Amino acid sequence: MKDAPGTSGLILEEPLLWEKGKKGRNGMSVSASDVPAAALPEDLVGDGPDFPDLSEVDVVRHYTRLSQWNFGVDTGTYPLGSCTMKYNPKVNEKQAATPVIAAAHPMLDDELCQGTLELIYKLEKHLAIITGMDHVSAQPAAGAHGELAGMLIIDAYHRSRNSKRTKILMPDTAHGTNPASAALCGYKPVKIESGKRGILEVEDIRQLMDEETAGIMITNPNTLGLFEENIREIAAIVHEKGGLVYADGANMNAIMGIVDLKKCGVDVLHLNLHKTFSTPHGGGGPGAGPVCVVSELEKFLPYPRISFDGSEYSRDYNRPESIGRIHAFHGNFGVLVRAYSYILTMGAENLRMASQLAVLNACYLKVQLKDYLHLAYNRPCMHEVVFSDKRQLEHKITTLDIAKRLMDCGYHPPTIYFPLVVSGAIMIEPTESECLDDLDRFVAVVRRITMEAMEQPELLTNAPQRFKVKRLDETRAARQPCLCG
Ligand SMILES: *Cc1c(COP(=O)(O)O)cnc(C)c1O
Repeated sequence: MKDAPGTSGLILEEPLLWEKGKKGRNGMSVSASDVPAAALPEDLVGDGPDFPDLSEVDVVRHYTRLSQWNFGVDTGTYPLGSCTMKYNPKVNEKQAATPVIAAAHPMLDDELCQGTLELIYKLEKHLAIITGMDHVSAQPAAGAHGELAGMLIIDAYHRSRNSKRTKILMPDTAHGTNPASAALCGYKPVKIESGKRGILEVEDIRQLMDEETAGIMITNPNTLGLFEENIREIAAIVHEKGGLVYADGANMNAIMGIVDLKKCGVDVLHLNLHKTFSTPHGGGGPGAGPVCVVSELEKFLPYPRISFDGSEYSRDYNRPESIGRIHAFHGNFGVLVRAYSYILTMGAENLRMASQLAVLNACYLKVQLKDYLHLAYNRPCMHEVVFSDKRQLEHKITTLDIAKRLMDCGYHPPTIYFPLVVSGAIMIEPTESECLDDLDRFVAVVRRITMEAMEQPELLTNAPQRFKVKRLDETRAARQPCLCG
């Protein structure tokens, strides 16, 4: 029990409700009818849907068992790199569910929804302070959507100056959504190889940046968990050639309130509120991807903007240079409520400390595991650390085997095979939520798995054993999903 948190309990076989049903079972007892039976209208006569007959116990157990096949941050350590699967305090859920907030209709007139407008307005101000940027629009619904908004803003900026640009610089460590967002806006991504140290080198940018290039998309810290130390010099080169600097802020959990991105030379930034600011995620949303800009680009932000004249909040649609609306109403408002509640309950000092602890935890794992797993870049890491299967490959054990075995040991696997620049990558992001005891338990399990890789490799190649489904054909699972168990 002790060595496998989360998965050593009973994992019950569970048939479909249709297989479970038995004629005559009943979910509730209805009193005998005291009125004469009437014939059904003709068009309703027939067999009707084939619903199984089930008791209340049948149904409650069925759905409770299904819910226990799930794994989430609330069940255990979830070190999925680049996703910031940290604990989302329940108080923020409670705020979002407050009836006056949850029931506020987005078509209410301004004077009837002053509170909700104030919340969006103030959240945008707080996010500006936390990142160092000047203005924020909370409208985009996810990181990738924020990227699209940001790239449309960069495009609008160049058009407003009659500057025709066709390319955008893109590090080879970028998340796949970055080149996709740029391409959607008509820009051709130009790959920049990260240097030997896992970060961008100034000389490469100097070589590649020209006046046909709209700018650069940088993730900082990057997806190797390393801080792009040369960002200011790189930004200066990009600006000198008339380009703009886009920062992917998905990794904000490492630098909240610590790094001033405007001072780093960033012009446009997106945040992932569902990663950094307390919205449960995984499984498809909803999320929020606010886009943050410097003053010069404010006029291009999506409309409506929420404005405040000192006494009233209002929605401003009169924004001739705006890229337009990119989401119905105000984006995913419930996610904004959670973020606002999170920021207020944490306060500036604790937000900063959360980032410091997230970095400390990743550094701890790096030190504790580097003699067991090959470390892709042996340098100070930020909130996540990237290992690889280089050592285990000698025993024909791959990253996938290690990830599957971790599941048997009660852990959600880390992100694997990303970033692409590290062959067999194992990207671990513990977040600040894990205490030292939990980190030590995880370390012990990973160390043990690396021993098993040498001594009992079948434990890894046959993993997972403790699950309903074992090794899936992952291509077929994605293309022809079978959802019937
Ligand atoms: C998660 C992530 C994104 C995309 O964000 P979504 O909210 O999933 O659209 C972009 N870049 C990086 C580095 C990420 O980790």
